[in-house]
Amino acid sequence: MKIQASCQCGQLKFASEVEPILQLCCHCLDCQDALQTDYAAIAFFKIDGTTVSGELAEKSYVAESGSKTCRQHCEQCNTPMFDRSEGFPKLLGVMMGQIDAPFEPLPSCHVFVRDKKAHISIPEGMKQYETGLG
Ligand SMILES: [Zn+2]
Ligand SMILES: [Zn+2]
Repeated sequence: MKIQASCQCGQLKFASEVEPILQLCCHCLDCQDALQTDYAAIAFFKIDGTTVSGELAEKSYVAESGSKTCRQHCEQCNTPMFDRSEGFPKLLGVMMGQIDAPFEPLPSCHVFVRDKKAHISIPEGMKQYETGLG
């Protein structure tokens, strides 16, 4: 089954022939800043099987490891779409809110929980990591 995502205005598109290898919720400050939300729900795909089309712009950050990380959004409607990190060059993170049905978000863990907003509660039994997955 093909998984597809697009921004609000529809010019920036993503497609993958395969399921994501990891789904998570990230509470890091970079995600909070880029998305202007409390946390980001992201599905990570192996970059090899994915296609991206359309015009995008990005915001760059420096991860604690010193490597570059960025969040990419539609140049026209500013919808946040992608998470790319130098530390994980073979992975492309896609904001789950932009993925078309029938894809069902099923995050398996929460990361950067130390940056979590106090009013956000994480479901019982969910794996949590203070920082990244390392
Ligand atoms: Zn757009
Ligand atoms: Zn993050």
